[in-house]
Amino acid sequence: MIVMKFGGTSVESAAAIARVAGIVQARAERHPVVVVSAMGKTTNRLLEIANTAVAGDRDKALSLLENLRQFHHQESSLTAAIDEHFAELAELIKGLVVMGEFTPRATDAVSAYGERLSSLIVTEEFRKAGMDAVHVDARKVIVTDNRHTQAAPNFIETYKRLEGVVPPLAAKHVVVMGGFIGSTAEGITSTLGRGGSDFTASIVGAGIGAEEIQIWTDVDGMLTCDPRIVEGGHRIRVCSFAEAAELAYFGAKVLHPATVVPAIEKNIPVRILNSRRPEVEGTLIVAEAVNGGANPVKSIACKQNITAVSITSTRMLMAHGFLRRIFEVFDRHETAVDMVTTSEVNVSLTIDNTRHLASIQTELAQFSEVSIEENQAIVSLVGDNIRHTPGIAARVFGAMNGINIRMISQGASRLNISFVVDGADLTRSVASLHTEFFSTLDPAVFD
Ligand code: ASP
Ligand code: MG
Repeated sequence: MIVMKFGGTSVESAAAIARVAGIVQARAERHPVVVVSAMGKTTNRLLEIANTAVAGDRDKALSLLENLRQFHHQESSLTAAIDEHFAELAELIKGLVVMGEFTPRATDAVSAYGERLSSLIVTEEFRKAGMDAVHVDARKVIVTDNRHTQAAPNFIETYKRLEGVVPPLAAKHVVVMGGFIGSTAEGITSTLGRGGSDFTASIVGAGIGAEEIQIWTDVDGMLTCDPRIVEGGHRIRVCSFAEAAELAYFGAKVLHPATVVPAIEKNIPVRILNSRRPEVEGTLIVAEAVNGGANPVKSIACKQNITAVSITSTRMLMAHGFLRRIFEVFDRHETAVDMVTTSEVNVSLTIDNTRHLASIQTELAQFSEVSIEENQAIVSLVGDNIRHTPGIAARVFGAMNGINIRMISQGASRLNISFVVDGADLTRSVASLHTEFFSTLDPAVFD
């Protein structure tokens, strides 16, 4: 069995779903279990409708709902089921107008309709394409706690149900289920949080002991550099879970690695694939470290629009408790710190979220001198083998010849070397580092 997850854009229209059907059919002998997101932007639209209802604008809410109903009709011939779901949904929306309140539990009831519908529609399209598809209501197998809108799965109960229900069906049929949704022990509809379909795919894969979990997206996989900054990056054929997690933290948007933890724990490989170019083999993410041979660096990630804060002790040396006082200020203002470097009298750090920067600055100024630089960027070289490869920092400095590096740190995980440059130098820095580290490529690891 393999799990194949298709996101919102992959099932956004009848044409997109037809492409998905072709992709799944071509892999029928691997016993696919298909997990789908809501079609296109349906989840956002459902939430907008509900918020409009709660705000008291009944007519507008119902007309937006009608648009969404028509969208589903236009892309699918599953007329009766669509109308039934929208009739229920209309009752729910009218209820929200009366209540004037949108509880987390009601939020889940509403947003679950996206995947409830898309999974039925996809099942029907698969049948029309000649596959023997069966629908499994994800709410019957994914059991969660009752923290609505951010529910956590009860893994023991969920795995038990998945194991009991899915493999016997998948032996003879193509199984289709909605991502994102589940239900509490009492049977109330819940959701795993926005973007939760990847998580569902991973939970299902772990629960049924799939041989592989495929996350079908609209990119070819993970690349050696961010294509929005520098073009010409190479596809990474295989990387470790730790590398993928590090890349996501430093800005790569392909997959949120926390969502595939259940799969990695059970040692199930996860593959990122492109539903518009299914012939590309994608990026394989595996549990153990991946030796890049001559390429200790797997990718260069970056984070833009970073603010650097430099804090200098107003005494000669850093007094006892100085660091603690600094971090307490950031903590109090719920501002996460990304990178930190310290010297005898100075602490430099970077933050992403500047919402509370003015208050932070005022408080820090009570015991230190503060200077702030906006429009900085973090560049991060990521690779399992960075820790075992001497001389990487020297190569970085060589490649960055003439470009000012402001802060440099080797991550605690030692999977990355990160530094800060002025935003204006970002493209030049990444291009130059990319030439330095990816001029020759290990063909087993890169394409
Ligand atoms: N449809 C849900 C969302 O938009 C879940 C997902 O797509 O992963 O957040
Ligand atoms: Mg998604």
